[in-house]
Amino acid sequence: MFLLVVIIEVCASLAALWSQAPAFDTLDVWALPLLSVTMLGVQLLLARGVIRFETATSVAFLGASLYLLLALSHQFDPLPAGVRRLSENTYWFAVLYTSIFYIYPPRRAVSRALLILGISTVICGGNLILTVPANMQLNLLSATAQFLLSSSVLILIQATFGVQRAQLLASRSAALIDVLTGVANRRAAEERLRELAGKRATYTVVLFDLDHFKQINDRHGHATGDRVLRAVAQLSQDLLPQGGMVARWGGEEFLLILPALGDTQVRKLLNNLRNELRQQRHGEVVGVTASFGVASAAAGESSDDVVARADEAMYSAKQQGRNDIRLAEWRRNTVY
Ligand code: GH3
Ligand code: MG
Ligand code: MG
Repeated sequence: MFLLVVIIEVCASLAALWSQAPAFDTLDVWALPLLSVTMLGVQLLLARGVIRFETATSVAFLGASLYLLLALSHQFDPLPAGVRRLSENTYWFAVLYTSIFYIYPPRRAVSRALLILGISTVICGGNLILTVPANMQLNLLSATAQFLLSSSVLILIQATFGVQRAQLLASRSAALIDVLTGVANRRAAEERLRELAGKRATYTVVLFDLDHFKQINDRHGHATGDRVLRAVAQLSQDLLPQGGMVARWGGEEFLLILPALGDTQVRKLLNNLRNELRQQRHGEVVGVTASFGVASAAAGESSDDVVARADEAMYSAKQQGRNDIRLAEWRRNTVY
């Protein structure tokens, strides 16, 4: 999306300069190339992962806003005789007022949009009163009023929908979080798995289930059981490699989605987790153990099949005495 915006911005700048040739506008002749170079530079840094998307959009937005406000002011100086409308660059304010609500959260977006509207009003009003010849003021009054009023309506509409959109996004992310532990829930994990399978990505899945967890509840109470579950989720989250995900798959069962890892790496990670779990202290509960099943996705394998293999491996660890790691047998050699 950002790349497309950059391409359109560069094309629009070239078109604006081309339409002015050979008598270039004194502002456009340096500001438009500078804006285009900035956008291209930001795109390059974004593609290389040097800056985040939020930074790229903020810089692009700031650059575009500054140029448009300068151009708005510049068109009055000198104003060609007999004009009845504002110049073409005012069309782009609609893009500013729309995009601002996608770049910033609603409150910040409203305050920034109002700031731009305020500055535009001062520029237009000040110039109409001070610099525009009296015989042209009436001609331009209607164009300026339409410009400022349509901007206000756009901000109002965007603010209303911006708040609704933020609420929808908040409820969507709440629907993907496990209430007890705060990590991803099963639905979120299934979405991630579908996404990975869709991309035909390689990944490793670990399913683990706490051993004899029912006894913890029975002996120490449900609240203590809950504390243990929260701590297990937090520990798993802390040990997760970059790009990984931990989800509460159900009851006392957790799923880790990891980048494709070799046998030794998985064992190292899980042994760290097992050590941490053993050192847990929750009142009278001293250490918990779990049984782990590991499966790595083979090319073209459905995510359901990968999880089913991890589940089988975990079940086999349970059967063979618990507190252990089992690697899924099927296709193991193709992946590890
Ligand atoms: P195994 O080693 O075979 O896995 O034995 P287990 O006792 O862990 O397994 P079992 O399936 O018999 O019991 C799971 C227990 O997990 C029973 C259930 O009450 C408890 N549990 C499930 N969800 C929660 C929860 O949200 N909070 C608490 N405190 N307990 C939970
Ligand atoms: Mg269990
Ligand atoms: Mg269980």
